[in-house]
Amino acid sequence: MAQTMWQFAKYLGNLFIDCLPSNRLIMEMKMLIKGEWVESSERVKMKKFSPVDGKILGYFQAGTKEDVDDAIDAAEESFGRWSEIGSLERSKYIYKAKELIESNRNELENLLILENGKVVKQAKEEVDGVIDQLQYYAEFARKITGDIVEGSSSSRKIFQYKVPYGVVVAITPWNFPAGMVARKIAPALLTGNTVVVKPSSDTPFTAEWIVRKFVEAGVPSGVLNLVTGKGGDIGDHIVEHKKVSLITMTGSTSTGQNIMKNASSNMAKLILELGGKAPFIVWKDANIKNAMKSLIWAKFWNSGQSCVAAERLYVHEDIYNDFIEKFVAVTKGLKVGDPYTSDMGPLINKNALQATEGVVKSAMDSGSKVLYGGKKPELGEKYQNGYFYEPTIIDDRNQKSPLFQEEIFSPVIAAMPVSDPDETLSLANDSKYGLASYLFTESPEIMFKFSDSIKFGELYVNMPGPEASQGYHTGFRLTGQGGEGSKYGIEEYVKLKNIYVEYSGKELTIPTIDDELFKYMS
Ligand code: NAP
Repeated sequence: MAQTMWQFAKYLGNLFIDCLPSNRLIMEMKMLIKGEWVESSERVKMKKFSPVDGKILGYFQAGTKEDVDDAIDAAEESFGRWSEIGSLERSKYIYKAKELIESNRNELENLLILENGKVVKQAKEEVDGVIDQLQYYAEFARKITGDIVEGSSSSRKIFQYKVPYGVVVAITPWNFPAGMVARKIAPALLTGNTVVVKPSSDTPFTAEWIVRKFVEAGVPSGVLNLVTGKGGDIGDHIVEHKKVSLITMTGSTSTGQNIMKNASSNMAKLILELGGKAPFIVWKDANIKNAMKSLIWAKFWNSGQSCVAAERLYVHEDIYNDFIEKFVAVTKGLKVGDPYTSDMGPLINKNALQATEGVVKSAMDSGSKVLYGGKKPELGEKYQNGYFYEPTIIDDRNQKSPLFQEEIFSPVIAAMPVSDPDETLSLANDSKYGLASYLFTESPEIMFKFSDSIKFGELYVNMPGPEASQGYHTGFRLTGQGGEGSKYGIEEYVKLKNIYVEYSGKELTIPTIDDELFKYMS
């Protein structure tokens, strides 16, 4: 029986996991184009499987190029009206959407658990994050300012206005499927852009839920659109579209590079939030308990599927054995399985599970030592087809190995001992990615040395992540360009228009033009 997504979440409430093996309801969703909820123009649907048990969860639309054109046309047509109403007025829709999300948060939490495999605490935390972001962006409505700059004489001024780009395409990943969609829609709408969202095919239902809340909040028809479908099928068409002025995308570096190539045909502005490979450094003088708590968070939060996940562990040699022993002991206590009662849920899909198994196997084949984990956990019949993997700690010691160089994006971490601060810095900086990094030390000397020389967009000192709405989430190197959050993130969604004005009313003198030419003019 086909049910709309929100009815489904309501029906299931907190008990849906128990309903899964039998009497399962199948969700079905549509796309939002020009204010209408529509099917794909070719009437083709795609299947979404639950990461919790590998069973079918629902169907979503396989949008076509024609659907993309319709959505972008709708966004372009509504741009003029929307950009003229002013940020204060626009912020009211964001406040309203925030209220609606808050008062229906239980539905969203259940959806995040069901569609993404999040454990309950982390689903709640993501919803808190969405609410916080919407509040932050809406509050910014009174802070969008421009500049008035002195011109070349006292009667000349240059007015620098911040104006929206036009049609913004928001391409989002699956790992924070509510947070990423909200974080792109809110600043784009606040600043007067209109939006087409293209969510991950692994989490289309969460995106639909968020978009519906903006529609219920009264966002006018055409201002916000949602197109689903495989990025490989419609992504290039969206990115190359002549009417798209800004593409904000969060995802893998390879997809980001592809988008960058395609966007050049139209010179669309890009915000690209791509892969990470965070080093987690524990110095010999660190507060070990705080470092351990933060490491457990940074590695196993969201089953290791976060762009700020600790992927490489460097521990000072004086404390290495003791720290690793404790790390293994604490990790053993993590419960993996049922998202309602566990600390860690599954990976997002079968490919992610197989990739993790492959990486760990090749590390073992090349002599690395698995200290804990390294396989699928035994969870009984109910979850045997879910995409679960044990939290895994590997003593690797080879900086050139894939475990230290490639983004693994799963609950697997490689560790090695370090001693010299300069050498540790160069190991930490030896990465093609440059998003998050972590340092635990009580020494101001070490803290400032690393803050000065670490080549990452974020360094968390003596604390866990993630980024705050008022921080600028940005990465160096292949992590991309631009960023989200804070005034700098909001300013990514506006461009500067310069108006030059002369207001003396006197006759102009132009140095390179001879006044004699104008002698017949009064
Ligand atoms: P992905 O496979 O690159 O997909 C991201 C989005 O791009 C999806 O919506 C995908 O659609 C779409 N896409 C695929 N091919 C496309 C194309 N040719 N043109 C346009 N769009 C296309 O990444 P993911 O697996 O969803 O997300 C995980 C990655 O995101 C990790 O690398 C992680 O580090 C990164 N991430 C970064 C940040 C950050 O702030 N830096 C935050 C979160 C995640 P389909 O799903 O339909 O293929």
